[in-house]
Amino acid sequence: MVDANTRGVLELLKRSGNDTCADCGAKGPEWASYNIGIFLCTRCAGIHRGMGTHISKIKHIRLDRWEDSQVQRMREIGNLVAKAKYEKRVPPCYRIPTDGDHDSLLEEWICAKYLREEFSRPERQAFMTGHMEGFLMKRGKEDPKYYPRKFMLSEVDDTLKYYVDEKKDPKAVMKVSEINVSFSPVKMEKKNSFQISYLKDGTTRHIYVYHDDPQTIVNWYNAIRCTKLHRLQIAFPTASQAELVNLLTKDFAHEGWLWKTGPRPTDAYKKRWFTLDRRKLMYHEEPLLLNIKA
Ligand SMILES: [Zn+2]
Repeated sequence: MVDANTRGVLELLKRSGNDTCADCGAKGPEWASYNIGIFLCTRCAGIHRGMGTHISKIKHIRLDRWEDSQVQRMREIGNLVAKAKYEKRVPPCYRIPTDGDHDSLLEEWICAKYLREEFSRPERQAFMTGHMEGFLMKRGKEDPKYYPRKFMLSEVDDTLKYYVDEKKDPKAVMKVSEINVSFSPVKMEKKNSFQISYLKDGTTRHIYVYHDDPQTIVNWYNAIRCTKLHRLQIAFPTASQAELVNLLTKDFAHEGWLWKTGPRPTDAYKKRWFTLDRRKLMYHEEPLLLNIKA
């Protein structure tokens, strides 16, 4: 038999907004942060616990004991009121993760919301300044090792550059409005990573980067998205914001090995890595090659 306070919390789950996780939108939350006043799924509750009890105090809705004051706080706040406070200034270019998304995107979203309060204090949003520079680990061209490389993003110039030697010319200059960034594709086997695809001399090229710190990689990722959105708003002033946000970055719809034959009936089947990117299908001899074959 559940006690009156637990029953009171269970009642609150029926209120609008409380039937899904406050952070990732998963259905049927089983946990709550009783100081913030929100209902959470198991995964997000784990991330909240990781921030420490000075930020978020976690309880199981059914299995833990609830005090009167804690139930009262949950009643006063709840997911919708908390959202109005903690997500007040989320810029449209920011990728808000959903329940099936990468760990680093979800962790950074939650830390940005409650630990750093970036969406109630927009001056803290490092990804919105239109400029970013720093070192990322970039996969070598000829070998699978990663090397620290200086990257520089400029919204004014619409460029993303990287340098092997800072005193020399950049090794690559990419037009931000034309690149795609795929967040943490499975083949990279790095948690905090992304793949940049860009056009050079008529072929699509790829750059693979990661950083040990999830905040750094998620900031870079969102900085590229924000730069792209601002450039698109200039290029297409009459397009709606929703249309342009949809163009910012796309994770690959599907990737994997397929057996491919040539145009002649006698051609043998060869194993190739295929990538479906929106309506474009690319294939490579290896998953992490730098140029595309078709
Ligand atoms: Zn969640």
